[in-house]
Amino acid sequence: MAKVAFLGLGVMGYPMAGHLKTKGGHEVTVYNRTAAKAEKWVRQFGGRSAPTPRAAAQGQDFVMACVGNDDDLRQVTLGPEGAFAAMGKGAVFVDHTTASAEIARELHAAAEKGGFHFIDAPVSGGQAGAENGVLTVMCGGDAEPFVRAEKVIAAYARACTLMGAPGSGQLAKMVNQICIAGLVQGLAEGLHFAKKAGLDIDKLIATISKGAAQSWQMENRYQTMVAGKFDFGFAVDWMRKDLGICLSEARKNGARLPVTALVDQFYAQVQAMGGRRWDTSSLIALLER
Ligand code: NAP
Repeated sequence: MAKVAFLGLGVMGYPMAGHLKTKGGHEVTVYNRTAAKAEKWVRQFGGRSAPTPRAAAQGQDFVMACVGNDDDLRQVTLGPEGAFAAMGKGAVFVDHTTASAEIARELHAAAEKGGFHFIDAPVSGGQAGAENGVLTVMCGGDAEPFVRAEKVIAAYARACTLMGAPGSGQLAKMVNQICIAGLVQGLAEGLHFAKKAGLDIDKLIATISKGAAQSWQMENRYQTMVAGKFDFGFAVDWMRKDLGICLSEARKNGARLPVTALVDQFYAQVQAMGGRRWDTSSLIALLER
């Protein structure tokens, strides 16, 4: 059992921190910018809350975080009340935010200077994966702290892999998002075409999902896509943040991402339609306007 802090009790962080307590049996301290959420968490799970990231990180073996973007991460780590000022020697900071590889490298270097460790560890599996404790975690950083952190992460993950050097977890997550972007557009076009063609959609998906067109998106999203329901899941705003990170990294490493760039623009149109919080499967809404 370890002493663990969790910073950021959002859609993902709230249930992840819960698993650290209920499944991991750890001594958990939580911090959330909006304090009411931290109070609710403590009422539900026990443990304690702290008023700042710095206070939460004091005396912990591990500090996990899951906040919005690079700026938010910088604030909870290096900000005036940031966690890094309180990290003990040998402690491990595990960041589950989907952020850039650059900030991961920057924070890894800052941690090294301070005598502690930093692991970038973005996740895949969405809200349901967090709630059910079955996330996929892609890590970047050093092997020794990873081996220790992996045992703690296990409370909410079914797979956790060290991809390589600092930033590698974020690079792996970028690949994950690049693969999803084009796929969702393809699925949206297929379903749109099927409706126009007058096919029985359930019969169609029951058949083609057994073949080469099968995907997680097809199995888990086709019904809501056909019904035009998008008020759940992984928000378009978050996807645009993620694709922005991918496109920016591609400008540096020379990768060509024509479909990703196009789908990013489609998502901008979904935002303009009022779909900022809609699930990413809402690409079909553009075809059916
Ligand atoms: P969310 O529900 O919006 O939660 C964000 C959390 O970060 C909240 O606790 C928020 O605090 C906190 N936060 C944001 N900015 C902050 C700041 N400057 N200082 C301190 N705290 C701050 O987001 P989420 O869906 O949990 O996603 C979190 C991260 O996981 C994102 O990077 C996202 O891309 C990634 N992710 C999400 C999913 C998904 O399906 N949702 C899947 C994979 C990865 P408040 O409560 O005060 O706002």
